[in-house]
Amino acid sequence: MLLVDRAATPERRIGESLIPAARRLLRDMAILDAHEALVHPAYLGNRSYWGDGPAQTTDFLRDPDRPGWHLDRARFEAFLRSAAIQRGATVMAPARLTGLTRIADKWELELTSNDGESLARASLIVDATGRAASIGKRLGADRQNTDRLAAHWITGSTTGGPERAEAGMPGFSVVESEPAGWWYTAPLAEGGRVLAFHTEPDINPLAPREADALVNRALALPGIGPMLRETGFSPETALSVTAANSARLAETAGDGWIAIGDAALSFDPIASRGLFNALYTAWSGAMACHDVLTGARDGFADYTNDLENVWALYQRHLAVVYGSEPRWRDQPFWARRAVAG
Ligand SMILES: Cc1cc2nc3c(=O)[nH]c(=O)nc-3n(C[C@H](O)[C@H](O)[C@H](O)COP(=O)(O)OP(=O)(O)OC[C@H]3O[C@@H](n4cnc5c(N)ncnc54)[C@H](O)[C@@H]3O)c2cc1C
Repeated sequence: MLLVDRAATPERRIGESLIPAARRLLRDMAILDAHEALVHPAYLGNRSYWGDGPAQTTDFLRDPDRPGWHLDRARFEAFLRSAAIQRGATVMAPARLTGLTRIADKWELELTSNDGESLARASLIVDATGRAASIGKRLGADRQNTDRLAAHWITGSTTGGPERAEAGMPGFSVVESEPAGWWYTAPLAEGGRVLAFHTEPDINPLAPREADALVNRALALPGIGPMLRETGFSPETALSVTAANSARLAETAGDGWIAIGDAALSFDPIASRGLFNALYTAWSGAMACHDVLTGARDGFADYTNDLENVWALYQRHLAVVYGSEPRWRDQPFWARRAVAG
């Protein structure tokens, strides 16, 4: 197996709350114990300032899968890469796929890396390129975006003793709605916290698009504002803007190829399901590939049907979440989601 990644090592990115149900997948993959040994902080639950009722806190105390994790993403991804190497994968990184040709029932891949250009042959190719969905799109699959959500985010330090740290609800992810979108904050495994605002480009009220503008708007929020003040939150990074919209490939597999993770289905982060879905589709996609290679299945129809169901469930979930904020239905951000729902 050849694993090609354009990044030499995992890049800094947002998205750290891994839900408890992922425990089952990591166990099935026989990497749960090694993952636990890396001791990412526990993800204990969620606090939401959403809708016109009081703030809601849900914890994972009674969850049969116990807490999830607030991951150090770079460490988690490096761990997954090393697990693949231990199971026989060869990693080529940084490297890019520059050409792809179907010859009989094989693929010929043209690759460019620091060592120059090379050719590789493969029976199956897996598109795990995230939102870029580079391979699926190259093979003609249509990438369908259902909205234009973008995340504007920074990370920052927090100060003070245990009492102040407590104000930041250690172990909890926090979301808060507002007229132009919604906010997210969570403690980071590596210290400090992440702060993100989700909105659409044409209604983005952040002017100028800078970290200070983001923090000032957050400080005025009734829920997250006091939390940031009490924990002494201070921005440490420039503002990053990342696509966070719902999107899918119209075909998630074809003759000799399959898409997994965000390449196949990309979720709005409010669903808190992206990493779980990436692990799930990697797992079920790997089994489908194994069966196709050994002749136990003659194609990926079961896999693509399964993803259709996942997408339908996700759409229903999203409609319920956005539908449970009635206060700003006349505002474009919420009106668009009500129509979609
Ligand atoms: C703002 C935001 C917040 C989020 N928060 C959460 C959260 O709290 N919890 C959660 O579960 N999910 C969250 N997510 C979603 C989660 O981050 C993604 O679902 C997850 O990263 C998908 O994993 P993936 O492996 O499919 O893709 P990615 O993580 O995007 O990985 C893609 C990989 O492919 C490589 N690559 C890309 N293009 C090429 C190419 N052409 N050639 C070679 N290599 C390539 C990249 O270097 C990278 O290593 C969030 C997403 C966003 C946008």
